[in-house]
Amino acid sequence: MIKIIKNNIEIEDLHRENKGKSIGLIPTMGNLHQGHLSLIWQSLLENDISIISIYVNPTQFGQGEDLEKYPRTLKQDIFHIEAIKKEYEQKKNQPKRIYVYHPSCEQIYPDGFSDYISIEEFNDVIEGEVRPTHFDGVATVVKRLFNIIKPERAYFGKKDYQQLRLVERLVEQYCIKVKIIGMPIVREKDGLAMSSRNLYLDANQREQALFLNKKLNELSEILLSKGFKAANNLACEIKKNDKRFNYLEIRTQKDLKRPDINNFKDTNLVLLGNLQIGDTRLLDNIEVSL
Ligand code: AMP
Repeated sequence: MIKIIKNNIEIEDLHRENKGKSIGLIPTMGNLHQGHLSLIWQSLLENDISIISIYVNPTQFGQGEDLEKYPRTLKQDIFHIEAIKKEYEQKKNQPKRIYVYHPSCEQIYPDGFSDYISIEEFNDVIEGEVRPTHFDGVATVVKRLFNIIKPERAYFGKKDYQQLRLVERLVEQYCIKVKIIGMPIVREKDGLAMSSRNLYLDANQREQALFLNKKLNELSEILLSKGFKAANNLACEIKKNDKRFNYLEIRTQKDLKRPDINNFKDTNLVLLGNLQIGDTRLLDNIEVSL
């Protein structure tokens, strides 16, 4: 049985009883799929205790976004977590401790909470341009989770590339003692990046969704064979001709800056795309090193 912790006092007890043991944190909003499970698996490999937080954080949703309809599937999530725990223990022949932290809003944002933060470098570019308040909400909740859980390591998917970079900056700026581990994107067989929001797509939209990964792959080939200028021109053209793209950008991996064509030093790049399919915004990216 996986223990579900709802109250921060129980986390304090857990710390008291487990001094010296390493804790891995996997922050999620639930509706777990293979992408989330890959993060959990890595945490099992690297830590004595793994804590999966399942919390649909209201402050990272903008007005008119899908906060209400976001899938909340705790029972099914626990089932997946139990299965991965069992699989790990059988494969490695080693028992592992996993907890689910499933707080109420009062535990995360108690009365008088005032530690709302903003990592300005990222909150108004790329994804932040489309969702202006999103990253402030992410930074605030992640900092709060780090304060409560005090993990040694925390696991984030590269699927949300800008979020990963934001969390790295957060940790630097606030001198938080946690190691951030960025994990590769887990995809469906046909290339679609796994996401809880894929659930919103009907069969026809699911087909259209593949376009994003297809274009990113094409761009990455051009980037490798013909260079940055050619790939950048093509990205601009695709975006101009297809209004479904909220953005399609080539940035540096480290700081998500536009590469400087005249002083092209950092050759570790990432192609980032966001495609609007109906009401659903799909995210994907590919890292390319020249
Ligand atoms: P979410 O529940 O959507 O907030 O995601 C929780 C964590 O899982 C984030 O760090 C995501 O980047 C990560 N994640 C979501 N989808 C994937 C995926 N397809 N592959 C790898 N990580 C993912």
